[in-house]
Amino acid sequence: MGGRNGKEGVVEGFRVLTLLYRVSELPAGAFQRLVELFKTYRAVAALYFWSKRLNLEKGVELALERARQLPSYYRHAFDEESRVYQFSEIRKMKGPRKIVLKLPLVDALHPKCGAYIESNKLVVRLGGRERLELPLPERALKWLQEKEKEVAPLKVTKIVRIQWREDKPELLKVQIVLRVERLKPLTPDPKGALLVYADANSDYGIACVLALSDGAETKVLETPKLRPPNRGRRLRAAAKRQAAAAYGHKRGVNLALARRSTRFRAKGWVKAAAAQIFKKAFQIANGRSVIMNFDIPDTESIKDSYLQKTLLSLCKVSKNLANWFGVYATFECYPSTKCPFCGSELEMIYTRRTRIAYCRNCGFYDDRDFVPFYHWLKELGLPMPKWPLQRIELPEELRRKPLINS
Ligand SMILES: [Zn+2]
Repeated sequence: MGGRNGKEGVVEGFRVLTLLYRVSELPAGAFQRLVELFKTYRAVAALYFWSKRLNLEKGVELALERARQLPSYYRHAFDEESRVYQFSEIRKMKGPRKIVLKLPLVDALHPKCGAYIESNKLVVRLGGRERLELPLPERALKWLQEKEKEVAPLKVTKIVRIQWREDKPELLKVQIVLRVERLKPLTPDPKGALLVYADANSDYGIACVLALSDGAETKVLETPKLRPPNRGRRLRAAAKRQAAAAYGHKRGVNLALARRSTRFRAKGWVKAAAAQIFKKAFQIANGRSVIMNFDIPDTESIKDSYLQKTLLSLCKVSKNLANWFGVYATFECYPSTKCPFCGSELEMIYTRRTRIAYCRNCGFYDDRDFVPFYHWLKELGLPMPKWPLQRIELPEELRRKPLINS
């Protein structure tokens, strides 16, 4: 999703509410009608997808003709002018699974269209006079209201997406997608703005620095670090399994379990972490403008790291939140191994808790995770803060060095 209308200087942000319904609890007749709609939609969408992809004009025409079997509000999925057009990224997609099979029925819009909210239920129109009514829990309604308030006075538009798959027949997944469109935020004056630096780090998670500067002095307010939960425990469990496998105990089973413990369900954690950063920023900013930078390493440099996908998805997630809230955010990477004061290569000294970056030339030292923040300040034309940003327990070898006195 995003920018398919390609309007200059305009950004769009999304929030998604996902609801799961047990098929056995739905009215059987209406659900049957929905399944028929899915079947028709899938056939048309598959034909449309491949014809578009292979440049078969006749196929596209045929698909559009067949789409007439669908209620009019579902046909927007094939209308290139519509904001619910589903095939705009057709050339980039590997296969049609995502839009044709996984999200078979894509519906849009507000009242009088394919679906709408009426008091505490979501009404999905199925063509003719038929409707499927889905109860909306109190919590969901509250969430929707909160999100709408977040962007007020801007208005959100809603899109409803319904997913059902034969291989998971017992559940119906319904998503309500809120979308807001706003002018791209202008660059605020870094003097007086709340500065938020989020460094996605392959070893530690996300290290943040929140600071304020009046141009004469830069004050660091907080330096929270967000770490994925229980990594140590998961890795220890995996090591045990691997050891057992090495001794030949139930090799296959133990290896599979080891893999499962090391793998990490990243998406949920990233979303929560990103939301937390924005929440904290607004709290502290207290009405001031906010400038954020997300430092997310590129694919190559973190290819083999366990957090790889997590870190890459942070980019997408935070970009979307910035658009949603209208916050000015950049996504630049700054060096963590170069001294911000004299430009020398920094040495890394590992303690049990931190990796300390140390400059043999000028004596600067700090937690390695905070080094990029200094470079960012320089780029913004702001003075350097007092360092280290946080008290660091110095290892013996550094305490003896004469140059360190901060
Ligand atoms: Zn230096």
